Amino acid sequence: MLKTRNYKFWFCTGSQDLYGDECLAHVAAHSKEIVETLNKSGVLPYEVVWKPTLITNELIRKTFNEANNDPECAGVITWMHTFSPAKSWILGLQEYRKPLLHLHTQYNEEIPYATMDMDFMNENQAAHGDREYAHILTRMGIERKVVVGFWKDAKVQEKIAGWMRTAVGIVESSHIRVMRIADNMRNVAVTEGDKVEAQLKFGWEIDAYPVNEIAEAVAAVSAADTNALVEEYYSKYDIALEGRDPEEFKKHVAVQAQIELGFERFLEEKNYQAIVTHFGDLGALQQLPGLAIQRLMEKGYGFGAEGDWKVAAMVRLMKIMTAGMKDAKGTSMMEDYTYNLVKGKEGIIQSHMLEVCPSIAGVKPMIKCQPLSMGNREDPARLVFTSKEGKGIATSLVDLGNRFRLIIQDVDCKLPEHDFPKLPTAINFWTPQPDFYTGTEAWLLAGGAHHTAFSYDLTAEQMGDWAAAMGIEAVYIDKNTNIRDFKRDLMLGNAFYR
Ligand code: MN
Repeated sequence: MLKTRNYKFWFCTGSQDLYGDECLAHVAAHSKEIVETLNKSGVLPYEVVWKPTLITNELIRKTFNEANNDPECAGVITWMHTFSPAKSWILGLQEYRKPLLHLHTQYNEEIPYATMDMDFMNENQAAHGDREYAHILTRMGIERKVVVGFWKDAKVQEKIAGWMRTAVGIVESSHIRVMRIADNMRNVAVTEGDKVEAQLKFGWEIDAYPVNEIAEAVAAVSAADTNALVEEYYSKYDIALEGRDPEEFKKHVAVQAQIELGFERFLEEKNYQAIVTHFGDLGALQQLPGLAIQRLMEKGYGFGAEGDWKVAAMVRLMKIMTAGMKDAKGTSMMEDYTYNLVKGKEGIIQSHMLEVCPSIAGVKPMIKCQPLSMGNREDPARLVFTSKEGKGIATSLVDLGNRFRLIIQDVDCKLPEHDFPKLPTAINFWTPQPDFYTGTEAWLLAGGAHHTAFSYDLTAEQMGDWAAAMGIEAVYIDKNTNIRDFKRDLMLGNAFYR
C-alpha cells in the first residue's frame, strides 16, 4: 500500500540576458546535458525535469508558482550558470512553498588554462552567480539544501538523491493521517503530545476511532480470506510450535491474519496510513495485534504502541522517505529495553512486546505464540527474529511543552553474541555513537523517549533537513558528540525555539 505520487524535481537554471543569445544557448544546452546525465546516472530515486532558463523576474515568479501548483513536483533544483541578479528572484521565492535545492556546480570540471578568455569567464561563473543567489536566500531566511561539487561526481549525485528523499518526506508529511484506536497509555508522559501543534508543524491528521469500530471490521473478514492469509504466513515464515498443539497454534495465527485484513481494510477505507494500538484497550479484539501490525508495518504503514502517535507518524514518514530504495535494510518502530554493560560489549537490546517490523530482519522470521505478560487477552502470534548488522539512525520526536524536538542518534547495529532461546520477541541490538556511555547520556539529557522510529536506510542529515523544513529543533548524537558541546546545543535550542 505504500503509495506515493510519481514525484519529479524541476531543474531551473538562472541567468540573464546581458551576455547575448549565444551564451544563453550554451547555458540551456549545458543544463539539459546535466539533467540528462543525472537522470541516466541511476543514482537518483526520482526524475529531474529540465525547465527553460530563468532570466527575468516574471518568468522566475511564474515558474515557482507552476511548481507550487503541480502535484507531481516535489521540489526545485536551482543553479546559477552565469550571474543572475538576485532581486529578480525575490518575488518568486517569496511565493514558493516546496523544498528547494541549491546545486552549486559548474559545467566544466577543470579550468581551461590555454583557451580561457573573458567570454568563457562570463559564461561559466557559478562561483559568482551562486553567491549572489545564496545571499538573497539567506537574507530572506529561506530553508534550502546546498550541494557543492561537480555534477558528474557520484558523491554529488548521491547527495542530490538523499535530498530528494528528504524533499518527498517534506511534501508527503502533510498527507500522513494517523488512526488512534486507543488513547495513550495511562500515566505515561513521553508518548503524549500536542496534536494541534503536530498538525500545524508537520501537517499530520491524528484522529481517534472507537476500538470496537475496527474490531467490527476485523470480525467482518471472511474465513476464506483469513485462511488464505494463514497459508501465506505458513509458506513465508518458519513455525515455532514450542510444544503447542499445531491446530490450536494455527487458530491463534488465524486471529492475527483476520486482524491484518480487517485493519488494512479499515485503514484503506478511511484513508489512514498509520495506526496506534494499546494493549490495555482492545475492545472486542481477541489478541493484541502483533503479527498483524508487523505485517502492516512491512507494507508501509506507520505504527506506534501504547497510543504513541508521534512514533506512528514518524515510522510512516521514514517509510515514505525510503520508498523504492534498492537494497533497503528496513525501518521500524523500536523500543529501548535492556542493556549489556559488559566492558567492550556495551549495547542496548531493542525490541517491543510484539510489534517490530520484519523489514529489519536479518534472518527468516519465525512465528511464535506466547503469552503476553501484560493485558488480558489470548496469547498473540508474532514474528520473532534478530535484525541486520550495520549503521542506522534512531529518532525520537518529543514534545517539550512549548515545542517539538527531534533527537537523531547514529547507532551501530550488531549481531547478538548469543541466541535468545526463551525470548518471544524480535530484537535489534545496537551501540549508540559515539560510545554507549556518551550516547546514552546525551539521549537522556535531550529527553529522548524509549520508543523510537529507526531506519537503516536514512541518515541523520536527511532527518535533520526534514526537521529544519518543519521549523523544529533537531539535535544530533553521533561520532562527534561530546557532552559539554551537546549541552550547549540544547541550551541554544532552548533560547532559539522558545
Ligand atoms: Mn512500548
